[in-house]
Amino acid sequence: MNRNAKKCRQCGREIYFDGICISCQTENERNRILALSQEEIDMAIRQICDEIEKTGELDQESQLFKNLVNYRDIDTTKIAKAAFKERLFYPCELYKDAPDDVIKEMLEMLKQDHIDGRLAGNLLLCLAVYGGEEVFHAFVELEKNPRKWRENLYVNPSFYATYGGWSYDNSGKFRKTNFEKCYPMVKGTLEEKKHSPVKIGVKTDEKCPDCGCRIVNLMEIDGRDPRLDYLEIPGTIKAKCCPNCIPYSDDNFCRYSIDGESSIISGEEHFSTEDYLEEEGVEELCSNSYILGEAPVPLRYAADWEGGSSIGGFAFWIQDCDIKRCPDCGKPMKYLAQIQWDTVIDNMEGNAYIEICSDCNIIAILHQQT
Ligand SMILES: [Zn+2]
Ligand SMILES: [Zn+2]
Ligand SMILES: [Zn+2]
Repeated sequence: MNRNAKKCRQCGREIYFDGICISCQTENERNRILALSQEEIDMAIRQICDEIEKTGELDQESQLFKNLVNYRDIDTTKIAKAAFKERLFYPCELYKDAPDDVIKEMLEMLKQDHIDGRLAGNLLLCLAVYGGEEVFHAFVELEKNPRKWRENLYVNPSFYATYGGWSYDNSGKFRKTNFEKCYPMVKGTLEEKKHSPVKIGVKTDEKCPDCGCRIVNLMEIDGRDPRLDYLEIPGTIKAKCCPNCIPYSDDNFCRYSIDGESSIISGEEHFSTEDYLEEEGVEELCSNSYILGEAPVPLRYAADWEGGSSIGGFAFWIQDCDIKRCPDCGKPMKYLAQIQWDTVIDNMEGNAYIEICSDCNIIAILHQQT
């Protein structure tokens, strides 16, 4: 143990300050929010509206707001009204349940040519989170006939839409980019993991041609478990990759069959790298005991730091939301799962994300870190 190292007073993990670790702090706050009564939630909502009305900003109460949305999926109607009055458009989840008239006014704002690019970007995100027919048609129209502000943005409205879990293909056809249910991965035993329909980290016999590291199934999902009906996967699929190369490559796809076979699609990008993970790291990854949670949780349950690993719902994007285009059909893929690396490999940072195109049986695996 390092000389400066202390122990978390709650879980015993090594930390470098007195007290409890970030992960335990997050867990305690989550448990507190999960235990709030409806009356206490209403009070918290009033508190959030108060700050917005008094200061025109959401600062002091921003984490409270995020936690209430993520863990309790609160109705944001009142908060959206307060925010719109102050023309506050960040964070975009403020408008999740905005009233119709607010949405209509926001769409009117976007149809102007001369609004600030930053404002346009924020409006697009807020409207994306709200979603619905009218917003979808407006986005398609704005992409076809861009207003002046588009010059100041890097990407099209179809990209912004993915923050709300939807998008559209090149012909303007609607595509969901998120699943409508979310299950967490929770700590179980190795024995329970054997029977879990979702497993993180399973070794294969293959070796990576680029670095020599052992190839793993980063996630195995048996869609026949009734909990996973919403995925509409009538068999077992495996997200196969080289765990050592993932952080260095933006181009990780594999082709799966629903009887559990997967083969990595070698992209254009070929690079040789050292095997930093080695057999020891692979062993660590594959010896975790995470299992699929018993009950579904709100869609944004895992959408923050220390959100852990989960299937469906919304990811916590450390950088920008990154919904890949399927290499076969070119349509937006669908976000499927997130793995928080340091919960399965102690010194690995960031998250892995798994996306799927079930039309073409293609899986993408992405990595992001700070
Ligand atoms: Zn701890
Ligand atoms: Zn590799
Ligand atoms: Zn496809």
